[in-house]
Amino acid sequence: QCVAVCPTGALREKRDYDRIWPLLDDKTKHVVVQVAPAVRVALGEEFNIEAGINITAKMVAALKKLGFKGVYDTNFAADMTIMEEATEFIERFTKGENLPLMTSCCPAWVNFVEKEYPENTRFISSCKSPQQIFGAMAKTYLPKKLGVDPKDVVVVSIMPCTAKKYEANREEMGRDGMKDVDIVITTREFSKMLKESGIDLLNLKDADFDNPLGESTGAGSIFGTTGGVMEAALRTAYEWVTGETLENVDVKDVRGLKGIKETTVTLNGKDINIAVASSLGNARKIMDEIKDGKSKYHFVEIMACPGGCINGAGQPYSKCDTEIVKKRMEGIYSVDSHKTIRKSHENPMVKQAYQEFFEKPNSHVAHELLHTK
Ligand code: SF4
Repeated sequence: QCVAVCPTGALREKRDYDRIWPLLDDKTKHVVVQVAPAVRVALGEEFNIEAGINITAKMVAALKKLGFKGVYDTNFAADMTIMEEATEFIERFTKGENLPLMTSCCPAWVNFVEKEYPENTRFISSCKSPQQIFGAMAKTYLPKKLGVDPKDVVVVSIMPCTAKKYEANREEMGRDGMKDVDIVITTREFSKMLKESGIDLLNLKDADFDNPLGESTGAGSIFGTTGGVMEAALRTAYEWVTGETLENVDVKDVRGLKGIKETTVTLNGKDINIAVASSLGNARKIMDEIKDGKSKYHFVEIMACPGGCINGAGQPYSKCDTEIVKKRMEGIYSVDSHKTIRKSHENPMVKQAYQEFFEKPNSHVAHELLHTK
């Protein structure tokens, strides 16, 4: 399968950013934005910068200039996802129930299972995706911290993905008449928004994400590529299960563009069989094995786009060039390796969110806001 094609086949180019301009001018609204991990290593391509170059600081500066009241990072929400999903995995693995646990970050994959393998939806993690976890936190935890009315908060997402528009509109993604995420635009739409506003992106002074939803670890950043969710989850699960420090955090077996990658990790003497697949053709192979009772896996990551979100249908057109996808992937791992903190459970802002609001992973409130079914 080539690039820049929505795996659901249902969604095409839109101009959803036209809905953002009037909201940014509306003084009664508190408009915040989150940016997905894969956007920062591809956005530059729309401005003649080489694929894979991380332009986070310029991108954040541009969003502040556009007038967003808070500029936050989906990578932070990815760290929250790991807290919930690693807990869920350890619980299911210990009980031997509903295995393999399958990741839930990719809405095109979730949609695929619901339609093609409805009897197997129980394997999918109940965690919302990072986009939706961010939205749920931005409408509950954030307003409490900032003293604003949740009804005035508007959540905008910048995603590499057209299927994320569909995910944000699913009826279970919100509460009390409020959606977790109000408007989703793609990397390409964002680049058009910047060009139309006349912002000279590359000459802006660097800026940092806002907090409390802006600080992230290396683990959160690798969600943007195939294998990243699994690697991030293993970094945390290893330390929680063994009680030991994981010195070398790189899980190289799950990296790269191969369609299905496998490895086995031993935790406290127990083998955990792992698979990481990208593209729905490869997902089907894994699902058919499960259906036939032949699967040996305990934990599976699936992303619908070949290579993961770096190759999403909302990214700059890469003309089916695998080299561009590889460069974006290298960019993602470079973001990870340059972070001081590379494990989700060590993110100080994540710890604070649990202390102040969510109590602990998989708590009642966490289930209410950060999980779905
Ligand atoms: Fe969207 Fe990422 Fe899934 Fe592609 S792999 S459909 S970009 S979430």
